[in-house]
Amino acid sequence: MKRRQLIAGNWKLNGTIKEATELVRETRRLLAQVRDCDLVVAPPYTALHAVAHQLEDSNIEVAGQDLYWEDKGAFTGAVSGPLLKELGCKWVLIGHSERRQLFGETLESSALRMKAALRAGLLPIFCVGETLGERQANKTLDVIAAQLDAGLNSVSKEDLAKVVVAYEPVWAIGTGVVATPAQAQEVHAYIRERVRSKDSGIAQTMRLLYGGSVKADNAAELLHQADIDGALVGGASLKADSFAGIVKGRQG
Ligand code: PEP
Repeated sequence: MKRRQLIAGNWKLNGTIKEATELVRETRRLLAQVRDCDLVVAPPYTALHAVAHQLEDSNIEVAGQDLYWEDKGAFTGAVSGPLLKELGCKWVLIGHSERRQLFGETLESSALRMKAALRAGLLPIFCVGETLGERQANKTLDVIAAQLDAGLNSVSKEDLAKVVVAYEPVWAIGTGVVATPAQAQEVHAYIRERVRSKDSGIAQTMRLLYGGSVKADNAAELLHQADIDGALVGGASLKADSFAGIVKGRQG
């Protein structure tokens, strides 16, 4: 089954409003002709409004990098789904490994975030992935199963159909070490199988992204794998030409 590919850039904590505006203008210019793939960028919160404005009437959509699960109230420092929507986001990342590792996000809170995103009408890009220690201890698939079940189990079928899952081995994020296509495909196939146990139709259509040191020169091989439907790109999305190189080079 052919699924429409999705390439998303996660800018993390990079970009003043001025820098983000320049980056997104150039990214938009270089990718203006792309029609056969969905494109998303996730700037820092403070640049969302400016970036969404730059992307009006374009083929690139905007994501938040995280959200809090309450919509409003006494939650100092938090940003909610409705606020992201108001800023022009269509998507939101949930459970990125940096959120899990550096900010104490748990399996339980990823479930709350998932529900909050869907309630706000945002499309979740739900991130899962094992650490190097977990891989070496042969726990990869158990870790992925626990993360997936936490995020997806309490979601209705109608909402499950809206979710994109990103497999991002923690040892490959920002390290320059990329999973081999076979390593990535093995986990992607497992994720699709696990989704199949919830709903076989949705398993066929759900897009599964790979993330972890994706660059223009390794994207095509990864994206040729049967169960890899796109990429979540960190470092290489911070330069318009390297992000565009991934998008344009993905057919290999
Ligand atoms: C990420 O953080 O989602 C990521 C994949 O980063 P990088 O591409 O820099 O490894």
